[in-house]
Amino acid sequence: MRIELATAAGLAGRPNEDWAATVLPASGQGGGLVLLDGVTPPRGDDGCAHSVPWFTARLGGALVELSGSRRDLPLREILAESIRRTADTHRSLCDLSHVRTPQATVVMVRWDEAEIEHLVLSDSVLLFESPGGTVRAVLDDRLDRLPPGSLASEVIADAQVRNKEGGFFTAAADPAVADRAVTGRTPRAGVRAVAAMTDGASRWTEMFGEGDWADCLGVLHKEGPQGLIDRVRALEKADTDRTYLRRSKQHDDATAVYAQL
Ligand SMILES: [Zn+2]
Repeated sequence: MRIELATAAGLAGRPNEDWAATVLPASGQGGGLVLLDGVTPPRGDDGCAHSVPWFTARLGGALVELSGSRRDLPLREILAESIRRTADTHRSLCDLSHVRTPQATVVMVRWDEAEIEHLVLSDSVLLFESPGGTVRAVLDDRLDRLPPGSLASEVIADAQVRNKEGGFFTAAADPAVADRAVTGRTPRAGVRAVAAMTDGASRWTEMFGEGDWADCLGVLHKEGPQGLIDRVRALEKADTDRTYLRRSKQHDDATAVYAQL
């Protein structure tokens, strides 16, 4: 087994709000990965005395600990318990009902000798490659299915669709959001490689259209996660007339994990 991981902050001097970890138990054939993309609050207004990196470190740490120590619990329950545990550490100090309370997208994968469990919440990407080379993307596509105009501004999105019925969901302070995650199980024999990316890295396919998900996995295989991120940075720098970037940040925090099982 071989796992590679790379990350790059979107802006120099600003904290990287992505968070990732991989787990390889010392015995057996188990393992796992956790990837979070912390949501940056507009104008820093989030009702929290802490920070997005503070939140992702606690949520990510709980996800890693519980997915290893509680193999009896499905990933949804591990996410719910990790959200609860993280919320408990600041509910007495901070306004956790704030629509922008610290929150993150989530990808989790956990495997043993027999099968692979996965969980995806919001717009980070999970890819599975079969032994024959077929690539399957697991996506929570709620952001792509929103009513027209609901992302026209941060204010409209917060009021109408952020963590609201019919909108899209992130891991914030409400454990019930775990029920919204896309989850599944795949026989271990049917998977040769797994990749997870935050949207800052998946731009290579989703924004710049440089190739489909199979091509993206091909870049990860040949050049590694850092190679994919370097390619994204080059595309962003070259898009001076914003043909592809349009209103998006020029560079977003970008993280990719590639695991060959
Ligand atoms: Zn707080």
